[in-house]
Amino acid sequence: MSDEAPLPSHPASGPRGVLLLGATGSIGTAAFDVLRAHADRFHVTGLAARRQGPLLLERARALNAPVIVLTDPEAAEALRADLVPGDPELRVGDDAVLDLVRDPATAIVLQGTSGAAGLPASLAAVKAGKRLALANKESMVVAGPLLRTEAARTGAEIVPVDSEHSAVAQCLAGGRVSEVRRLILTASGGPFRGWPADALEGVTRDDALAHPTWDMGPRITVDSATLMNKALEVIEARWLFDIEPDRIEVVVHPQSIVHSMVEFVDGSVLAQTGPPDMRTPIRYALAWPERLPAEAPRFRLEDYAKLTFEAPDRATFPALDLGFEAARRGGTAGAALNAADEMAVERFLDGALPFTGIAPVCADALRAHPYKADPNLSDLLRVDEWSRTEAQTAC
Ligand code: MG
Repeated sequence: MSDEAPLPSHPASGPRGVLLLGATGSIGTAAFDVLRAHADRFHVTGLAARRQGPLLLERARALNAPVIVLTDPEAAEALRADLVPGDPELRVGDDAVLDLVRDPATAIVLQGTSGAAGLPASLAAVKAGKRLALANKESMVVAGPLLRTEAARTGAEIVPVDSEHSAVAQCLAGGRVSEVRRLILTASGGPFRGWPADALEGVTRDDALAHPTWDMGPRITVDSATLMNKALEVIEARWLFDIEPDRIEVVVHPQSIVHSMVEFVDGSVLAQTGPPDMRTPIRYALAWPERLPAEAPRFRLEDYAKLTFEAPDRATFPALDLGFEAARRGGTAGAALNAADEMAVERFLDGALPFTGIAPVCADALRAHPYKADPNLSDLLRVDEWSRTEAQTAC
């Protein structure tokens, strides 16, 4: 871990332009509330989504966004008929997103898309020196060192929105980075916590999509059930905070009230806690290093009579150790693991792969992929493609 603060500090002044990517997903929904409540602090430069046109338009009207982007051309064509004079300008395709990222009016890119497909926009934001409020963990998993190098070159700030990493960033305000002994990431344990391994064989799509504490998109919900989400978060933390994987620990905390912890060299452990609500890390990432007042319900610790912490069951949920393995190997390993998991989860949701088949498919791709220690973007995209094909063939 370096001695530099991972998050440079300078106060914001005046309303800042925010571009919201993934505006109709679960992060987009939480971000919509935050942006509407703080119109005095942030103006919206654009909203982008893949294909939910009507919802995107409704949100853009409410936020006075000048531009909307649909990356799916058919969805954009269907939306055109709904537009009336005074509506935001509709643009189409991935390049339109990149143009908005680079637009001088955009100071903050709130990256709320899911999957490695979010990487080009994240990288463009960092190359343009913007603040990247990052909910798309795959960007860091696939290309952490590249994003760090570019951010150091341009002065871009990468501020985590993932709740665990936001918690770590907040705890790091309580000590120097050089004084950190360990990061302790919490995990809900998912809907199958405590299940014996053989009971997982018959798990269905609906079983896996019922997350106990967070309401999220389908891929991350399945990833939470396999613990692959935590595996990816270990890799994300490794690059985001420049910390060796051996100093990252995972503890299962089913109540999801303690969002993560930092242990310092003197034995002090700082924890960030609060009700599970993605608006909190979004608010923090947008306003950082300040805190914005919120209408959030008061946190009553007495509502949580019992908080429990336990070691993860690494034998029943082998995906977790794949995250540590990929974090230790670095290079293209994160890209290989993530792409295999994206494909395997898709196949599981289609009914083509059993729940217990997801981790083995990912392990094979991680270990067999053409590894490179110091990859550039095209190496990473090539491995992503290789791993997807490999996983699809294996399913
Ligand atoms: Mg998380």
